[in-house]
Amino acid sequence: MYLDSGIQELSKIGPVFARKFEKIGIKSVRDLFYHVPTRYVDYSQILPISKLSPGQTVTIHAKINSIKNIYSRRGLKMQIGSVSDNSGKITVLWFNQPFLIKTLYPGRSVSLSGKVSFFGKQKCLTSPDYEILTDEEKPTVHTGRLVPIYSETSGLSSKWIRTKIKEAYQSIEKIDDYLPKNTLEKEKLIDLNSAIYKVHFPKNLREMEVGRERLAFDELLNLHLKSLYRKNTWKKNKLTAKLPINKTSINQFIKNLPFVLTNSQMNAIDEVLDDMSKPTPMNRLLEGDVGSGKTVIATVGAFATFLNGFQSVIMAPTQILAEQHYQTFKTLLAPFNIRISLITSGIKKIELGRSDIFIGTHALIHQKINFDKVAFVVIDEQHRFGVEQRAHLVKKSGTPHVLTMTATPIPRTIALTTYGDLDLSILKEMPKGRQKITTWVVPEQKRSDAYEWIKKQIKEGGSQIFIVCPLIEDSDIETLSDVKSVTSEFEKLKKIFSKQRLGLLHGRLKSNEKDKILNGFRNHQIDILVTTPVVEVGIDIPNASVILIEAAERFGLAGLHQLRGRVGRGDKKSYCLLFSNFHSGNAYRRLKAMETYHSGFELAELDLKMRGPGEIFGTAQSGFPELKIASWGNIELIKRSRELAEDVVKNPKKYPNLSPKLETG
Ligand code: ADP
Ligand code: MG
Repeated sequence: MYLDSGIQELSKIGPVFARKFEKIGIKSVRDLFYHVPTRYVDYSQILPISKLSPGQTVTIHAKINSIKNIYSRRGLKMQIGSVSDNSGKITVLWFNQPFLIKTLYPGRSVSLSGKVSFFGKQKCLTSPDYEILTDEEKPTVHTGRLVPIYSETSGLSSKWIRTKIKEAYQSIEKIDDYLPKNTLEKEKLIDLNSAIYKVHFPKNLREMEVGRERLAFDELLNLHLKSLYRKNTWKKNKLTAKLPINKTSINQFIKNLPFVLTNSQMNAIDEVLDDMSKPTPMNRLLEGDVGSGKTVIATVGAFATFLNGFQSVIMAPTQILAEQHYQTFKTLLAPFNIRISLITSGIKKIELGRSDIFIGTHALIHQKINFDKVAFVVIDEQHRFGVEQRAHLVKKSGTPHVLTMTATPIPRTIALTTYGDLDLSILKEMPKGRQKITTWVVPEQKRSDAYEWIKKQIKEGGSQIFIVCPLIEDSDIETLSDVKSVTSEFEKLKKIFSKQRLGLLHGRLKSNEKDKILNGFRNHQIDILVTTPVVEVGIDIPNASVILIEAAERFGLAGLHQLRGRVGRGDKKSYCLLFSNFHSGNAYRRLKAMETYHSGFELAELDLKMRGPGEIFGTAQSGFPELKIASWGNIELIKRSRELAEDVVKNPKKYPNLSPKLETG
C-alpha cells in the first residue's frame, strides 16, 4: 500500500463506504492521513481498579466477570456488568447497546476508558469506550491513550475512521516525503511519516502540535502550488492582442474626468495599463471597498483597448448593474465617439452590429458576443464565479486581458492562497469627501422609535431609505419563501409608513418591473425601498441616506459593510441601522464592530478570525476553501509555505518528489 493507493484497498471498504469517504473528500490513503482529528480525549491514564476515584477519566485493563441486559423502570435497556483486575472490581454500565453482551462476554480481557461515577453507592464506569485486549503487548487504539476524535459525517464513526487509519499506517510500505531533508531542516518541520504518526497516535498534545504543523504546511503548500500552476498556465495562453498604450490620449482622458483620481486609482491604472502592453494576458484582481471608484479604472482599460482598435466586454452580475455601468461608460467616454452597447435579454445577436464596448450580464454576453476581437474583459463584483468565467475566456484564437473587480475585501492570507494566481491591485483610499456612515445596532424594543426617526428623516431631510430583509435560507439565490417573507414585511411596513411612498424589490420580479421600481427610487418617486439583499450591492443612489437591515446577525460583516455602502454616496449625512434580536454574545459583538470599524478590510479580517471564510463571503457555497488543517490566522505559516511554493515553481529540480504533482495541478 502507498500514499496514492485508493481507500478501497483497505479491508472492509467496499463501494458503499468508499462513497461515504469520498463525501468528506477522502479518496486515497494520503487523504485519510491528512484527515486530522478535531479533538482528542485523554484516556492515557491507566490505573488499577482499587485506585479509581469518582470524577476521574481513566483507563482500566480488566476481565469481564458477568454482563447482562436489564430494563430500567422507565423502560431503558441497560447493560450492566462487573469487571475485575488484580486490585479489585467495579461495575460497568452502558445504555441501549444490547448487542454488547455478544462481544463482551465473561472471561474476556478488555480495556475500558471513561469517567468514574457512582451507580447507587458503588463506584462505576458509565458508558466507557471499550476494546478487546487480545494481547497485552499490543498498543490499544480506542482506549488507554490520547484518543483522536474525528468529525463524524456521512455515517462514518470516529471509531471506524480510527481503525482504518491504524490499518493504513500499518500496511503502508513506505511514506515518501515530498519535501527534501534540507527544506525540512530550514523550515523546522518534521518528516511526513512522523507527522502522520504524531497526529493520529500522539503521546502528548505537544507532540501532536508538531505533527499537525507539518500537515498544515503541506495543506497550504498544495493550495499555493495549485494557484501558481493556474497562474503559469494562464500566462502561457495566446494573447488576443498586445495593446501598446497611447500615454498622451490616456492622460487627456484622465484630465477630462469630472473628478481627480485618488493615488490608489492612479496606481491601479498604471498596473492595468502596464499589464495590457505585455505579451502575456493580464489576469488581475482589482479590490476596493464599495464606492472606492473601481468603474473608472475599467473605463480607462476599455478606452486604451479602443485606441488600439479592439473591443472590450464588461460583465456585470445583474442587469441593473449592467445598466448602471452603461450609463457611467457613456458619460465618461462621451467625447470620444465610442460605440457602446448594452446587451439585454431582448436584443438579438445581429442587432449588436459593430460596437467597441459591450456591457451586459455574464450569461447574456457569453451567448451573444463573438469574442474574436475582444482584447479586454472586465468581470465585475463576481468573486463566486470568477474562476469559471475566466476559464471560458480562454480561446484558441486568443485570450483577452482580464480584469476582475470585487468589493469583497479579501484578507491578505486568502489573497495569497486561493487568489494566488491573480495579480492584485488594491484601492486603499476612498475618493475625497466621503463621509463615515453612522452605524447603530438597534434592539427590538427601539423598533418603533426607529420608525418614527425614519419618518422624520424623510419628512424633514428629504431622505430616501433602504430596508433590507435577509434571505431566509442559507443560499445565494432567492427562494419563493424569501419573496413571501419580504412581501409580507412590505405589507406590514405599508401600514406603518402610511404617509410615505414605498416600493418592493426582489429577484423574482421581471426585469422591466425591477427597472420601474429602481428608476422610481432613483427619481425620488419612492421614499422607502424594501428589498432582499440579492438586489444589487453596487447600486448608486446618492439621495439614499439611511439603510435599515433586518436580522443583521445573519450576514457576514463584509456583507453588511457592502450593504451599508449603498448609502453615503451623496452629500447627506448617512446612517445604517442594524436590527437584531441578539443583545449579547459573539453575534452581538460582531455587530457592534460595525459601529466602530468603517473599512471593509478590517471587518473582513475580524470576521475571518471570528467565523472563517465561508461566512465572510456570504454563504457556505461561496466557493472559498475551508482549511481543514491549517488556520487562516496563521499568517506566518501561510507566508512561509508561499515562499516555498514559489521556489518549487522556480527550481523544480530541487524538489524531485514534488514537481510531478505540480504538472498535474
Ligand atoms: P465602486 O468601486 O463601488 O464600483 P464606483 O466606481 O461605482 O465605485 O464609484 C462610486 C462613485 O464615486 C461614482 O459615482 C464615481 O463617479 C465616483 N468616483 C469615482 N472616483 C472618484 C474620485 N476619484 N473622486 C470623486 N468621485 C469619484
Ligand atoms: Mg462597482
